[in-house]
Amino acid sequence: MTFRSRRWLLAPVVAGAVAAAGLSLANPITAADAGVAKGKARNVIFINGDGMAAAQREAARLYLAGLDGQLTMDKLPYSGQLTTSPHDPKTPITDSAAAATAWATGEKTYNGAISVDVDGNPLPVLGAQAKAAGKSTGLVTTAQVTDASPAAFFANTADRGKQDEIARQYLEVTRPDVILGGGEDWWLPAGTAGAYPDQPAEDPSEASKGTKGDLIAEAKSKGYRYVSTAAELQAAKGGKLLGLFGNEELFQQRPEGQGDVYAPPASLATMTEKALSTLSTNKKGFFLLVEEEGIDEFAHNNNGTRMLQALGELEKAVAVARNYAAGHPDTLVVVTGDHECGGLTVEDTDASDESGDGISAEDGPFAIKGSSQSFKLDWTTSGHTGADVPVTAYGPLAEQFTGKHPNTHVHEVLAQILTH
Ligand SMILES: [Zn+2]
Repeated sequence: MTFRSRRWLLAPVVAGAVAAAGLSLANPITAADAGVAKGKARNVIFINGDGMAAAQREAARLYLAGLDGQLTMDKLPYSGQLTTSPHDPKTPITDSAAAATAWATGEKTYNGAISVDVDGNPLPVLGAQAKAAGKSTGLVTTAQVTDASPAAFFANTADRGKQDEIARQYLEVTRPDVILGGGEDWWLPAGTAGAYPDQPAEDPSEASKGTKGDLIAEAKSKGYRYVSTAAELQAAKGGKLLGLFGNEELFQQRPEGQGDVYAPPASLATMTEKALSTLSTNKKGFFLLVEEEGIDEFAHNNNGTRMLQALGELEKAVAVARNYAAGHPDTLVVVTGDHECGGLTVEDTDASDESGDGISAEDGPFAIKGSSQSFKLDWTTSGHTGADVPVTAYGPLAEQFTGKHPNTHVHEVLAQILTH
């Protein structure tokens, strides 16, 4: 494993701390002082609206807040843009794996890579570095807990599809204290259905398929409390927590009216609240990754109705994080997306403008909150695009997100809080 030189990290840490503390450069403080001793920045809540770029955020603003309204995620005081291109020999358009690797390691890599470099070598990940620094760590998602975005912060593998291997690394290598989301199928061997039955009517392709043994039993033996319902989650208190609330994603990703369902047994906001109450007992701080996966998956299906529903659930989770940070000023909250999905535009409802069938069709109309007006969504692809993603932030170091940066910049800022 090749570790990057830490020298490039220390320079902005010291400069930022000096600026924040109003200290003279003749009396520099160490990076360790900057993070913990001064109480300036201890915790990070990093929130990924998977597939969420400017058009998704604007559609959500109109739908949820109205013409003159503002989303909580847009009220965070500092904002900027991130470019998302990967280092992939086959494409300039990223997937979630390469994008999350850029966040978690500061390195650009190929699509499908989970925190390995372009040659397949594992890279240090923020989830492990935060734990090594004494912090608690956690991940909350409506995808599989082992899906690409959370995985890149807590595992290394050359192939994002090896989700059972990623689960094994969670238990045996990086040990996040809180793991909440979907993907039970990867924690159990074939033939062991678990709390969520194999081949359910809503998706008969779902069935346990792990190759690493009964990882739920292993988690229990390692001190995790295992829960599979919202009531069990509610009752869980303290300690390490593993909650799996579905076989795969916590929704069914389909085009509108074709079996599409968004009804997670435990909402993203509920899971975020539980994670924060669990992680925040550590005086050295914590790192929490929060992800709403439905935005991306329903954009892939050009399903505006469900995408907006998922954006609403993300917004509620952002409010939970923002409220926490308001009472804990040593907490950085960051909201962004890993890439755009759908080539989305927000249009008026003019029936005479261009439209099309299939992936170039217009979708809607959708009502604008508090208004008699409505808007349409126009999709240009069922895949990802290279559009910039907005990033908004609140708390210590938030100002470093202003301007336009490559997505590796997320790592540069988060590492200042999480690696010591
Ligand atoms: Zn996607």
